[in-house]
Amino acid sequence: MKKVPFVTKEKVDEIVKQYPTPFHIYDEKGIRENVKALKEAFSWNKGFKEYFAVKATPNPYLINILREFGCGCDCSSLTELMLSKAMGVKGEDIMFSSNATPANEFAYANEIGAIINLDDITHIDFLEKTIGKLPETLSCRFNPGGLFKISTSIMDNPGDAKYGFTTEQMYEGFKILKEKGVKNFGIHAFLASNTVTNDYYPTLAKTLFELAVDLKDKTGANIKFINLSGGIGIPYRPDQEPNDIYTIGEGVRKVYEEVLVPAGMGDVAIYTELGRFMMGPYGQLVTTAVHEKHTHKEYIGLDACAVNLMRPAMYGAYHHITVLGKEDAPCDHVYDVTGSLCENNDKFAIDRELPKIDKGDYVVIHDTGAHGFAMGYNYNGKLKSAELLLKEDGSVQLIRRAETPKDYFATFDCLDIYEKFDFNN
Ligand SMILES: *Cc1c(COP(=O)(O)O)cnc(C)c1O
Repeated sequence: MKKVPFVTKEKVDEIVKQYPTPFHIYDEKGIRENVKALKEAFSWNKGFKEYFAVKATPNPYLINILREFGCGCDCSSLTELMLSKAMGVKGEDIMFSSNATPANEFAYANEIGAIINLDDITHIDFLEKTIGKLPETLSCRFNPGGLFKISTSIMDNPGDAKYGFTTEQMYEGFKILKEKGVKNFGIHAFLASNTVTNDYYPTLAKTLFELAVDLKDKTGANIKFINLSGGIGIPYRPDQEPNDIYTIGEGVRKVYEEVLVPAGMGDVAIYTELGRFMMGPYGQLVTTAVHEKHTHKEYIGLDACAVNLMRPAMYGAYHHITVLGKEDAPCDHVYDVTGSLCENNDKFAIDRELPKIDKGDYVVIHDTGAHGFAMGYNYNGKLKSAELLLKEDGSVQLIRRAETPKDYFATFDCLDIYEKFDFNN
């Protein structure tokens, strides 16, 4: 499917008068339509709730759009919990799915009433020592090990992942938690990432539902929810078929009725912790081509770099690129599209067929709405960009300003040198 940016050259010409490139821009209309579809797809389940994975796009303006549709927040750190609390998210609408968790983070999660999802059996003692009496509701993260397959194709390698309880530890953990007075249980698993297939959730659900029935039989635990977590992917490449959330919802409903309902567990709530699927396609990094270089290869240098979007440098991830105003021009040039870091992996694209790019062209990098801005760092002293929201009425709102050198040097403010910086450029 042809990937078309949700901003035009004319629109960007207008935006840059106020907010220079590079910036991430998000499409409110797309976010709303997608979350509505997710809710509809799972409306057969009375307790269904999406806990948006805050780490994917930790911006309160974007998360508030999802909250209008009843979404909660899935957090994995102190600051994500703080953000959710500051936004007024209620305790039971916060899921704390962390790992290697520091004691103060468990304590804060408990204080604000978040649902704690334990990553390891040893965390039962650790949590009890940290907070005293355990909460009435607790969840455990499951990792069956081995390879995660859908029929014969390998989706991911949970056996190599640091997360979760083994099968034996799930039984043991539930027994211990029951003895310690826990009343309501949840089961969580995240076994494959960025799956572009409608079969991931139904396959995962079957595994978790069967485990739930057996756990209930063997330990008597009252299982309130099953959390299918994240992992529904998006088509980063134009030749990929997008997931159909209605097919996915229907697939989960089918196994729910086959496995849970006959076991008398037809009241179990389904939770999700989607990040990428909720925001990924609805964010784009808008940059300007500032240099062209002709050496052993043809290079286009952008005003953005891996600090603004790390996925290509980190995973070799594909992000589609469109040159604004040249949407229909033939892709008869081959470029490496680079940022300005002193790292040769700072390339948004390698050997990419694109139209002829001229200095001053706007180069849009697609699908940066999740794990985009958020993954940014400050290597080479580069600063993070602004985030903008393209609203449904076509207006643009600044939802995070760009960093300034003052932000970058702020942690020196306890030292004499702080007075010596020239912050006027
Ligand atoms: C990252 C993460 C998610 C979201 O994953 P996506 O691939 O963005 O859907 C959900 N839950 C947990 C525990 C995570 O670490």
